[in-house]
Amino acid sequence: MAITRAAELLATWEAGLAQAPSGRALLLHRAARPDTGGETLSSLPVGEREADLFALRQALFGERMQVRLACVACGEDMEFDLGAGELARSTGAPAESSVRVAEDGWEVEFRVPSVADLTAAARQPDPRRALLALCVVSAVRDGAAVPADALPEPVQRRLAEAAQEADPGADVTLNINCPECGAATRAELDIASYLWTELDAWARDVLLDVHLLATAYGWSEPEILALSPLRRRYYLELCADV
Ligand SMILES: [Zn+2]
Repeated sequence: MAITRAAELLATWEAGLAQAPSGRALLLHRAARPDTGGETLSSLPVGEREADLFALRQALFGERMQVRLACVACGEDMEFDLGAGELARSTGAPAESSVRVAEDGWEVEFRVPSVADLTAAARQPDPRRALLALCVVSAVRDGAAVPADALPEPVQRRLAEAAQEADPGADVTLNINCPECGAATRAELDIASYLWTELDAWARDVLLDVHLLATAYGWSEPEILALSPLRRRYYLELCADV
């Protein structure tokens, strides 16, 4: 059961303030699955985490996600809705944990990247290369084993494609046609940073509510956070009316 109580969500937000995006993604994933250990969460395939985060988004802020994009051709501001629950169902764990690719006499086996692989690779100067080194299980050319960093560019590209096919939920790519000029704009939807931005705005609103209610009624922070959002709003309206 995901964390949805205000006090715990505020603690998640506070812990994430000083973190890099990968740390925030892990904190959000913990909020989505508080009963799963951090190490297990890191070992999951990326698509499964994205599905968990879309489900958390739905639990916290509802189904309708508003996305804004600028058209790559004419700059028109495009706004549209996505369904969080729908995206949670369309992402999810990949069917296979490893994939084999044969190309130009090369035979490569690699495992589908986990959250930990992606996080470790992102810290390296060349993340794509680092990810290959982490995930290639074996690379053979004409029967002889070859190190992962010796793979030629076309084989690397083929591997990247195969990885995406194996774990399609890892990259949610939007393809939006501009209503003004008709050009297609592609953009990746990073649910971790999308959800973090929402949580950040929510947390600042809640702190303001606490400040206003504490000032008006003298209640403590835990007392105010224990109120349902509906009651909190009602008391705030009463304060405003006075
Ligand atoms: Zn356009």
